[in-house]
Amino acid sequence: MLDMRHPEERVMCPHCAAPRDKHLGHEVQGVYDGVLFWSCTSCGRAWSRDWSDRPRIQQIADEYVRQLNDHADASP
Ligand SMILES: [Zn+2]
Repeated sequence: MLDMRHPEERVMCPHCAAPRDKHLGHEVQGVYDGVLFWSCTSCGRAWSRDWSDRPRIQQIADEYVRQLNDHADASP
């Protein structure tokens, strides 16, 4: 179940400035019950939610984001 109500979420994609309706919330079972990180359907890049108060989750989210962005960077 995706929770879209978190007030800290970005209004625009940090990579291409696409608006919220292009953002896709990703939930990872067993890590966090809700959106762990976001990706953009316009540019294919991702960014983490702010997990600064939960370092273990931040580490996992960062890894997912890094892999997605590496893949996006490798695509033409
Ligand atoms: Zn984007």
